[in-house]
Amino acid sequence: MSNQTAHFVPDGNTYVEVILPIAIPKPYTYYVPEELVADIQFGLRVEVQFGKSKLYTGLVINITNQPPQDYKAKAVLSVVDQKPIITATQFRLWQWMADYYRCTLGEIMNAALPANLKLTSETQLTLSPLFDDDFSMLSDKEYLIAEALSIQQEISIDDVRQILGQKTVYPLIRSLLEKKIIYLKEDLKTKYKPKKVGCVRFKEPYATYPELINEAFEKVSRSQRQTNALLAFVQLDRRQEVVRKQDIYKMAEVDTSVIQAMVKKGIFELYDKEISRLGSYEEATIDANTLAEQQVSALRQIKEQFESKNVVLLHGVTGSGKTRVYIELIQEALRREEQVLYLLPEIALTTQIIDRLQKVFGDDIAVYHSRLNNNERVELWNSVLDGKPIVLGARSSLFLPFKKLKLIVVDEEHDPSFKQQDPNPRYSGRDTAIYMAHLHGAKVILGTATPSIESYFNAQSGKYGLVEMPERYGGISMPEIIIADAKEELQKRKLQSHFTTTLIDELKGCLERGEQAILFQNRRGYSPSYRCNTCGWHSECIHCDVSLTYHKFHNLLKCHYCGYQTKLPEQCPACGNKQLNLRGFGTEKIEDELKIYLPDAQIGRMDLDTVRGKHAHAKIINDFEEQRLDILVGTQMVTKGLDFENVAVVGVLSADQLLQFPDFRASERAFQLMTQVSGRSGRKKKRGKVIIQAFNTAHPVLQEVIKNDYNSLYQREIQERREYKYPPYFRLIRITLKHKKPQTLNDASRIFDKSIKQSLGHWVLGPAVPYVGRVRTYYLIDFMVKLPRDAKKMAYAKDSIVRATDTLKKSGGMSGVRVSVDVDPY
Ligand code: ADP
Ligand code: ZN
Ligand code: ZN
Repeated sequence: MSNQTAHFVPDGNTYVEVILPIAIPKPYTYYVPEELVADIQFGLRVEVQFGKSKLYTGLVINITNQPPQDYKAKAVLSVVDQKPIITATQFRLWQWMADYYRCTLGEIMNAALPANLKLTSETQLTLSPLFDDDFSMLSDKEYLIAEALSIQQEISIDDVRQILGQKTVYPLIRSLLEKKIIYLKEDLKTKYKPKKVGCVRFKEPYATYPELINEAFEKVSRSQRQTNALLAFVQLDRRQEVVRKQDIYKMAEVDTSVIQAMVKKGIFELYDKEISRLGSYEEATIDANTLAEQQVSALRQIKEQFESKNVVLLHGVTGSGKTRVYIELIQEALRREEQVLYLLPEIALTTQIIDRLQKVFGDDIAVYHSRLNNNERVELWNSVLDGKPIVLGARSSLFLPFKKLKLIVVDEEHDPSFKQQDPNPRYSGRDTAIYMAHLHGAKVILGTATPSIESYFNAQSGKYGLVEMPERYGGISMPEIIIADAKEELQKRKLQSHFTTTLIDELKGCLERGEQAILFQNRRGYSPSYRCNTCGWHSECIHCDVSLTYHKFHNLLKCHYCGYQTKLPEQCPACGNKQLNLRGFGTEKIEDELKIYLPDAQIGRMDLDTVRGKHAHAKIINDFEEQRLDILVGTQMVTKGLDFENVAVVGVLSADQLLQFPDFRASERAFQLMTQVSGRSGRKKKRGKVIIQAFNTAHPVLQEVIKNDYNSLYQREIQERREYKYPPYFRLIRITLKHKKPQTLNDASRIFDKSIKQSLGHWVLGPAVPYVGRVRTYYLIDFMVKLPRDAKKMAYAKDSIVRATDTLKKSGGMSGVRVSVDVDPY
């Protein structure tokens, strides 16, 4: 392209590189008109056109004198923000993620920014439920939009453009969003109910002329209670921004009739005030417990290790009191006015841990989870930018704009749900946290009772520090673990459906003593499905290669991959046979059957089906805490971070299923799950009991779980990983090709295979059809790249993947094949 060199000569004009919220591989460059140059900064959003007519807000990530090389730059239409919405450090993290996980900056931005900060022409707006129809405070243009919205339910940003007859509208939209006059439509779908409280204020003339207050006192002089209420109001009004009715009731010991009377007399008026649901924490905070000896020693060691290491693995058995150690570290950080990020797997973000931390830190803590709506997200985003001391959140909180982040706690670091599977960026929350800490000069503490093999390997090799807490808090013994031999019971005809007599007897004893139990059943591959005994027909999803799961409660067959659902047929659709048999057993079936053997027990269930609603999860936990339930049956969810005082027995329904999973991490995962769920028993008062049912009782992992022998598991696993070339010795990159037509996919697979193997040779395994070969009507084919741990080789492999993808897409008829790359797949 030598004839284009001329373009590289700076032309004295200003250009910006902008990330757009659409699927394009690179940032796009725009020209900045003279009159906007002074307003432009890194991290601001600008309004730009892309394609023929679409307008977007894009994020400025670079300012340059270089015009784009391959196209003529269009002009920036307007500057949306006055101050940057992201920080430079944040952007460096994005760049690292895009490079490491091989995705575009646009995809990262999409994952990172709350919806209110990434508007497009199609974004639908509605009138905010908080807008009180007070049109008088609006500017002319705001008025036009509010009016349009009070006539039509919703309008798009494109409509706004037409209504105003102007092209640039994003700055106006931003200000309307900030003033909470308009909302994004998607927020109404999530049924956002602002929390409102009833408040009291002076009616005119008293509001404007406080000197007339004596007149008001005159008016109520005949009622002692009204006088008290007025006195209370005057005092409260002086020291707080709003006076709630509740405040007056409390202070003056009056009720609503008193306030009503004063409203009638024209002294008060009532109004509703929206308060943030992000929680002003209203109760008083309490001091953290005194540290136990083991905690003091762990703290000392952690701090020592932090002097030479950036990451410390805190390996403490379940119930050892790790949380109290984090609290201490957090308090120290707060005294230095630093920010702290406390990461948890999403599902472990239960009210329990939130309560525990809020009791100590009160309003200093903000909770970021997937159930927040966009307004709450923006509110939280801004509070972090303003220096909110502590954020408790799932992996997506890594995207928040920290200013002075100095400590990241990754609690339950082993948990697979730290990994984002789909869509891009397919990142590991734990690994990204470690890189993020490096950017901020922060320390990381990885806490767990069951370290991932990778993290323990890093601790062994000296890359991370290692601190152990081998005892439970309060000297409570680790639970007694009993293996119930299901095979033997089956032979002796003692097995009762899915339950061994050992388990049933323990449960009975537990109920008699008024104690509680938890039963764990793995989710994957255990779902109940229907099969015809005559012809072998089974209930399959029409879009995916998986059996449909039977949901008894709704009498429906559902696909857990795509959501497809259908009625249970009355007879076999293939042969007409009326005998369809239920196979497998899920939590719902266990709950049902348990009722047969333990008719008096109150049984609850916690799985993805029962915790859908916003508060369902908290309700089940609360019912169990308050002992309205005797037995809790659940999936993975019951293994995570729950702390119940009265649980004496934990049952694992089938260890075999965990151990037989066709995955190199099967043993590691099985150990983690069984140990974690065991840890739910006997936490406060006395030693708990765990019953693990298994057909293959000889499996080494079972012995390791019984003895709580992580070290033996680690030694065995690490040897196998080395021998079979798996992480941490080797790195994996999984590439998945997808297409709706199997023939096209096969052709694509052949082309890709040839070109990837040209550069990577025997490092590439595949093509292979994955465990589930068709999802949402797309057929899938996997390749796995397995390469030695070496940054250069890794970079070379990633580049080769990009080249092979390009080659594929340029081949005839192949442009529609989707290629996804998963670096360090779980
Ligand atoms: P882990 O997170 O290591 O499993 P937890 O932090 O949940 O352990 O602690 C286990 C139990 O011990 C909890 O009920 C907790 O309240 C209690 N505990 C831990 N440390 C202390 C302490 N210093 N003082 C009083 N109780 C404590
Ligand atoms: Zn049949
Ligand atoms: Zn499906």
